[in-house]
Amino acid sequence: MFWDNLIKHINGFYSFLKQGTSLKSIKSKIFIFALLATLIPSVILGLLSYRQSEDSIRDNLQRELRTLANHANSELDSWIKQNTLDANSLTTSRIMIDVLSDAANLQQTAIAKTPGMLSDYLRSVHEKLDTFLELTVIDTNQNIISSSSETSFLKKSFLNRFISLDETQQSYILPPFWNEKFNTIAVSIALPVLSYENYILGQLVLTYDFQIIKQKLVDPIQASRGEILMLDTNGGLLLASHTEIDPMIQLSPTLYKLLLDNPGELYNFKDFSQEQVIGLAQKVKKLPILIVAERKYHEVFAARIAQRNLFLTLVCISIFIVATIALYLGRSIVMPLQRLINATDQIVKGNLDIPITSVKQKDELGKLAQMFNQMTDKLRQSQDETSTANEELKLKNQLLEKLCVTDSLTGLYNRSKLNHIISDELSRSHRNKRPFTVLMIDIDYFKELNDSLGHIAGDEVLTTVSKTLSQSIRTIDFAARYGGDEFIIVLTETTAKEAMITADRIRSQVSGIFCKVINQSIKVTLSIGIAQSELKDTSPIDLINRADNALYKAKQAGRDQAHLVSNNS
Ligand code: GH3
Ligand code: MG
Repeated sequence: MFWDNLIKHINGFYSFLKQGTSLKSIKSKIFIFALLATLIPSVILGLLSYRQSEDSIRDNLQRELRTLANHANSELDSWIKQNTLDANSLTTSRIMIDVLSDAANLQQTAIAKTPGMLSDYLRSVHEKLDTFLELTVIDTNQNIISSSSETSFLKKSFLNRFISLDETQQSYILPPFWNEKFNTIAVSIALPVLSYENYILGQLVLTYDFQIIKQKLVDPIQASRGEILMLDTNGGLLLASHTEIDPMIQLSPTLYKLLLDNPGELYNFKDFSQEQVIGLAQKVKKLPILIVAERKYHEVFAARIAQRNLFLTLVCISIFIVATIALYLGRSIVMPLQRLINATDQIVKGNLDIPITSVKQKDELGKLAQMFNQMTDKLRQSQDETSTANEELKLKNQLLEKLCVTDSLTGLYNRSKLNHIISDELSRSHRNKRPFTVLMIDIDYFKELNDSLGHIAGDEVLTTVSKTLSQSIRTIDFAARYGGDEFIIVLTETTAKEAMITADRIRSQVSGIFCKVINQSIKVTLSIGIAQSELKDTSPIDLINRADNALYKAKQAGRDQAHLVSNNS
């Protein structure tokens, strides 16, 4: 489930990145803002804490390394003091004084002592105390008198480095040097040998392996993971507290000078094993030795590196969580907006039946969707009202149109419409060369009927005659009220002879009319003039006049009859 969501998010993020233009959308803006709002404070806080922790680590380290260097310095000092003290007791040895006195021919002892006896003595001391590499006695002229070794490493050239002591002088120490004979770094302490009368006879030179000091350094600094190096004046390595490095290997002159000139200051550099270290230097008071206390860089900053990795992991997790929330928030804003945009688009196209479903949301978007729905309801309502009004208007227009072409009393076409009808029929007749016929109908003695029964009864007779006319013709024919008690019927595609049959049928149908107004039947007769269309007819008047003439003839002939106009007349 988690992995599915993760893959979905990564895909969403990927498609989001692919859409370059989508950076302008609200969703992208929320996304970018959320990322920056997470990233910027995290990076600033991270850098500050990183810097602070580095400062604090360096401060602690400087204290630790200074303590280490101090410790090494004092251990070296106490070692020198202790060995000088021990060696002092040897210089008072009788055999040594006697041999040197003999050598100087200054004193004759009861039993003459030879240098061989002194050598035996020195060898026995050497055997008892194996801290020495060699014990050698030299006279005031730096000649070797006796040594614990068969052949002393001290050569004439080397002996020149020895100080000519006098009675007042104490011991002195020769700086550590590479001793080829013993194949190690050696350090020598020289002490004056005084006669019983307290004048100088020579020197006792005690040579030690400098590596002895290493043990003194290792134990106390075990709590620390630091290392102590001791360097000579050329930067050559004399001793390393923990690692086995070739002695006399040299530090670069620049680095050595930097450390020498800035004692107590922390520096990052590569040591003899070419590893990155942090260290500081301290000078030794009694010897030309530089003590360097150092620690491996990766060890010192291991905790900080772990902290940095943890910080980066947490930042990545935060960014992922924030990006997910931002995407979700972006979607929750953009989706309803998109629905509103689509709905508005539908409204523009005229479709109002599109309710927005996100009204359950309690936020502003929910409110907006609610109002949008209310707006579409109102629009729909007003659209319904408009279409009802349009429908009514249409009906009214149809009625008006009908009223324009019909007679108000009878409902038949009026005179103006009749003119149009006859014009159209004339055109058609000219086209298809087929005649049509017009019947002009007049009610006989209508004036009298009006006068005797009343105008209302007259109207009822007019209406009833009209109905009879309408019912007597085909759907393709037309009936119109020409005026007063006169009617005209247009029989399409009908000859005058055929029309005569229709005229007779009409006359017979109106013979007895029941008048409701007076509640009795009335005998009504009609006179009808019939005229057939001719090709020479150019207007309705021509045809109507002929029908009117025929009607006149019917009236003249005694009424209640139809009269046909001959086309030749
Ligand atoms: P004739 O046989 O010669 O036709 O005699 P007539 O009495 O019918 O004479 P005429 O056709 O000239 O008279 C028409 C009368 O119709 C005159 C008028 O009083 C009457 N009239 C015209 N219009 C109306 C109407 O709308 N209603 C009623 N009730 N009478 C009308
Ligand atoms: Mg009449």
